[in-house]
Amino acid sequence: MSRAPVIAVASIGAVQIAILQDLLPVIEAHLPGWIVRPATRDLPQPDEAYAASRSQYEAEPILERLSALGETADRILGVVDLDLYAPGLNFVFGQAQPGGPAAVVALARLRPEFWGEPPNADLLQERAVKEAVHELAHTWGLGHCADPTCVMFFSSTLGETDRKSNELCTRHAEELSRSLRPAERQPHG
Ligand SMILES: [Zn+2]
Ligand SMILES: [Zn+2]
Repeated sequence: MSRAPVIAVASIGAVQIAILQDLLPVIEAHLPGWIVRPATRDLPQPDEAYAASRSQYEAEPILERLSALGETADRILGVVDLDLYAPGLNFVFGQAQPGGPAAVVALARLRPEFWGEPPNADLLQERAVKEAVHELAHTWGLGHCADPTCVMFFSSTLGETDRKSNELCTRHAEELSRSLRPAERQPHG
């Protein structure tokens, strides 16, 4: 029988407490049986990841800092309210270490007000949950999906994030449960 994965969630720099507090149970509700809890330590503003030429923060050094936290959890999810990028991409909504343990979700561009629209806490949370589930699934080796409603669809625009669901398609749900399960042996006889 497999053990429920434990996800520790760390804030990075200034993140509104209410956003974090509301986010944890919602992520947990979307991953039945999983345990999602606050990390024992949070991270300061990641100044070393700042790229002044583009006024953005690079995701990779943040992932390294998260994995170096040494949380006793299966995965460590960082939540940051900054604009992140990865080399070759103008921005990322989140990033993950394939195989784990760290994943990060960046709230700044998930906010409607970033794009000149009125603030909307529910919409921000909905987007953050999708990105969190997407990045966590990457840490268990899941790739991107061609199904635009699967949470593993790669969204390069918020329109695509809003169109996809917060659920895995059947194929990806099966792949994730296989990754979470210790190798099974066929009974003899
Ligand atoms: Zn992805
Ligand atoms: Zn899928």
